[in-house]
Amino acid sequence: MQVLHRIADLRAALAQGPRPAFVPTMGNLHEGHLALARQAKASGRPVVASIFVNRLQFGPNEDFDRYPRTFEADCALLQAEGCDFVFAPDEAELYPEPQAYKVQPPPELADILEGHFRPGFFTGVCTVVLKLFNIVQPEAAYFGKKDYQQQLVIKSMVRQLALPVRIVAGETCRAGDGLALSSRNGYLSPAERAEAVELHRLLDNIARVVRDGRTDVAHLEQEAMATLQRRGWQPDYVAIRRQADLLEPHGLDEPMVVLAAAKLGKTRLIDNVEI
Ligand code: AMP
Repeated sequence: MQVLHRIADLRAALAQGPRPAFVPTMGNLHEGHLALARQAKASGRPVVASIFVNRLQFGPNEDFDRYPRTFEADCALLQAEGCDFVFAPDEAELYPEPQAYKVQPPPELADILEGHFRPGFFTGVCTVVLKLFNIVQPEAAYFGKKDYQQQLVIKSMVRQLALPVRIVAGETCRAGDGLALSSRNGYLSPAERAEAVELHRLLDNIARVVRDGRTDVAHLEQEAMATLQRRGWQPDYVAIRRQADLLEPHGLDEPMVVLAAAKLGKTRLIDNVEI
């Protein structure tokens, strides 16, 4: 496995081979990232994983500075998965001048849910992902459904800008009790970690009752928000939406997903369950 920090070095390393399979990450890798790397490996193409904590997608009061950085351990995990290249640029390499050209995703998709509570988040994500795609020029890129809205935004960017890359969405990896794996889980105290699983339980329950025929979507959402508040969470949203575009469902016969974001203490967790 080669570890490369410079764009020119990565381009030179990839120049002779077939277009790679690409797994973009912010590091602090866990089984969710590694499952994506495994899927990428199964494509038979050279695998490039990137590790870059992207300042552009963090709000001024978010956790950019304390985001966990575990580069050596990440490289060991990627090597064990048969990853071929790790691309780990520093900020001066990826943003040598202020990034003034940005990808502005459509507000109806990117300013709702996560985008409503994290203004500019998807602009930061799209901008770095487009830039990484231009650097890596992958045949396929792998994103987790854990960040459900993110993979939809990326797919829509790829369609609308005719980017020559296939987007593959991987299933959410969970801990034994159901908590979606996340680099931010490391912020949780033991008591918070025990409580954190409630988010998934709640979403699982909503998915089940909707599958069983419940149609009072707004009531279910409000009830879930109230439950989280009662248990000491600060929920941002619990929303039942269409899988295709995250708009409110018209009928309940189309594929849906229930998504939530909530803070437990200082830690903001997100999760979703497809219905
Ligand atoms: P991050 O490092 O958090 O930016 O995540 C990098 C990629 O891994 C994104 O495509 C995420 O959606 C994906 N990912 C993060 N957590 C999980 C998980 N628990 N299951 C599946 N994919 C995940």
